[in-house]
Amino acid sequence: MEFRQSSKLSEVCYEIRGPVIEHANALEEAGHSVLRLNTGNPALFGFEAPEEIVQDMIRMLPQAHGYTDSRGVLSARRAVAQRYQALGLDEVSVDDVFLGNGVSELVTMAVQALLEDGDEVLIPAPDFPLWTAVTTLSGGKAVHYTCDESADWYPDLDDMASKITDRTKAVVIINPNNPTGAVYPKEILEGILDLARRHGLMVFADEIYDQILYDDAVHHSVAALAPDLVVLTFCGLSKTYRVAGFRSGWLVVTGPQQHAKSYLEGLTMLASMRLCPNAPAQYAIQAALGGRQSIRELTAPGGRLHEQRDMAWRKLNEIPGVSCVKPKGALYAFARLDPKVHAIHDDEKFVLDLLLQEKIQVVQGTGFNWPRPDHFRILTLPYADDLDAAISRIGRFLSGYRQ
Ligand code: PLP
Repeated sequence: MEFRQSSKLSEVCYEIRGPVIEHANALEEAGHSVLRLNTGNPALFGFEAPEEIVQDMIRMLPQAHGYTDSRGVLSARRAVAQRYQALGLDEVSVDDVFLGNGVSELVTMAVQALLEDGDEVLIPAPDFPLWTAVTTLSGGKAVHYTCDESADWYPDLDDMASKITDRTKAVVIINPNNPTGAVYPKEILEGILDLARRHGLMVFADEIYDQILYDDAVHHSVAALAPDLVVLTFCGLSKTYRVAGFRSGWLVVTGPQQHAKSYLEGLTMLASMRLCPNAPAQYAIQAALGGRQSIRELTAPGGRLHEQRDMAWRKLNEIPGVSCVKPKGALYAFARLDPKVHAIHDDEKFVLDLLLQEKIQVVQGTGFNWPRPDHFRILTLPYADDLDAAISRIGRFLSGYRQ
């Protein structure tokens, strides 16, 4: 008897934790130390969880052993609602908030609740690949709109408009963006929202990096820009509060909910099917959202994340044939390999060869649904000295690399 994976998975891919990991694990088992620059997990790079969050969770633990409401505990949903009220969304109430085991679970539920087979979702290229994977798994079709590297990686609105069909149901906006680090100006967001308005699209706003901003970057909440549209905003504790392992996120529904009654019933049913999110992690939310936001000290000039972003960007651009648009937000640098200098035909092989030779694990651009094998992503989470050394090694590797 052979058990085969479902054919529903045949088009689903998730390369950030993809097959190269097996090789990295094997190298570690053989005694090598591997620098893992593939997953945006702050805890691996010496970032501590904010003390008040951990203490609150510990304090609440004796009362956190039961199931909670499927949408999450009231105190945490209240804290989330107040966060969005402070952005001008006065109408947001606790009933509009769903908590989840990370944004990932909520993305899965939100897409599954919407799509019929063959429905299309506009998703950026490059993207955070969960959006494409979940759309495909839900029977939908991921239609990628191009983000333009020569225009600071902003979405190309003409390309987006040309890809809308009568099957398009929703548009995904990832801002600040993973993997590019772009932070979109208001005009670009308004352009996307205008398309959503004209074509009756639901808007999925993945804003998990909304507080991880550098230089003069300003984050505009899509929900606040378009109170007349049905917008689902996703955010959580994994990045800003450096507690990715707690698995704690939220989703806020805004806009004319009378047009989404059936959808929201479906979403509520999916929320109840997973019973409830992990309860102790829900108690971290109120502590996180109130009080001092320690992320700002890390992203301001002189802060650790700021310094590391500068180092990664500068060092990548020093490698002949490599260029990188300066990230204005998030925790990544998405580097371009000039095909005239580095003719790479298979970027997964490139990533594997780099791993085997230099013991550094990065993610290939095609893993983010970028259509050509000419980019790779690194994290800006390691200490600046470690990034300096790692990127020097990537440069050395590239100088002798041919495919
Ligand atoms: N959305 C984006 C853009 C991300 O980069 C990530 C994680 O890297 C997630 C969502 C998932 O986050 P969570 O840990 O809340 O599931």
